[in-house]
Amino acid sequence: MYHLECIECGKTYSKTDVLYTCECGGLLDVIYDYSTIKLDMDVLKTVCPSVWKYKELLPIEQEPVSIQEGGTPLYKCDRLAEKIGVRSLYVKHEGMNPTGSFKDRGMTVGVSKAIELGMKTVACASTGNTSAALAIYGAKAGIPAVVLLPEGKVALGKVAQALMHGAKVLSVRGNFDEALDLVRKLCDEERIYLLNSINPYRLEGQKTIGFEIVDQLGFNVPDRIVLPVGNAGNITAIYKGFKEFMKLGITDRVPKMTGIQTEGACPIVKAVRERADDIIPEKDPETIATAIRIGNPVNARKALKAIYESDGTADSVTDDELVQAQKWLAQLEGIGVEPASATSVAGLKKLVDSGVIGHDETVVCVTTGHLLKDPEEVISVSAEPIVVDATIEAIRKAVLEN
Ligand SMILES: *Cc1c(COP(=O)(O)O)cnc(C)c1O
Ligand SMILES: [Zn+2]
Repeated sequence: MYHLECIECGKTYSKTDVLYTCECGGLLDVIYDYSTIKLDMDVLKTVCPSVWKYKELLPIEQEPVSIQEGGTPLYKCDRLAEKIGVRSLYVKHEGMNPTGSFKDRGMTVGVSKAIELGMKTVACASTGNTSAALAIYGAKAGIPAVVLLPEGKVALGKVAQALMHGAKVLSVRGNFDEALDLVRKLCDEERIYLLNSINPYRLEGQKTIGFEIVDQLGFNVPDRIVLPVGNAGNITAIYKGFKEFMKLGITDRVPKMTGIQTEGACPIVKAVRERADDIIPEKDPETIATAIRIGNPVNARKALKAIYESDGTADSVTDDELVQAQKWLAQLEGIGVEPASATSVAGLKKLVDSGVIGHDETVVCVTTGHLLKDPEEVISVSAEPIVVDATIEAIRKAVLEN
């Protein structure tokens, strides 16, 4: 039992309507009748986490299109905690999803919804990971997927996935924000289902990150969640997950939602500094963290609410700082992430150093995508392999010298 509701004017829509925003232009939210939702705590405490473990809190009634998404590891990271100076640090590694990013959580729900609504084609604009996820769920569902990518600005692994899983891949001569405007027009004019994070059903899938963190901490709530922010859907979604568990009496508080962007693309951070409830779009966002190279985040209004309501914050880091954090994750903890994901750890370090985050907090950083998504960036920031002759003398010399 659920319906759609505008976050601006409160107008409601039926779950059978095909639409993405309100008539007034406002973002939509999926609202449940929580009094009818009964979760069995015994089941909740024994079944392994996954997106569909929480199906009572998901807006899909048919058999979902699923490739076993979610259930990603929550690593306790003591060496990294010591480096950063916090008591207790966990990393929720979303790179361990089927396509290597959290986008799979949104797409398993989004493509299932497309099928329920009888849509025959799905589409999105993407900085890369959304297209990879749409491509696999389109393939699994047996319907065509169309993806619009900003030309030359998408990491190699992501393009490879979209192509191999059979999406129609369009390389648009423009940036992400322009590609999104175009795909929105296309979906309005043709009967094609839009699966960018403006689609509220995507966020329903992604809120399960919040459920899983509570679950994996033994039904405890951390003090703070730190994560990268691009279109600002994920921070909104995870916060919704925590709020729903509180509404259902499973927990009694929410963590401080803390969003990190890069200095070259940080409209949310600027808005938070002003305590504004909307952003001023940036025209030419630039950063090596291509997944969050976004100047006009569509979910900004929802995300800012989540940040203020939870007493969280937002800050920006440089590309150099995020590369440093990427190496810490990889070399202190064995966690391989793409550049955008490392902003969470870089941002945590900055906020601990400046005293905004206390040393005694229990923090969960969400690493959103896998290292192999962007091998070119990794090669460009790493030392080259040592080339040696195929003799034992040469090998011994190379191994023993430093
Ligand atoms: C999509 C994505 C983000 C940004 O998430 P939003 O919901 O757009 O804020 C961050 N990191 C990675 C790896 C992503 O794929
Ligand atoms: Zn409205």
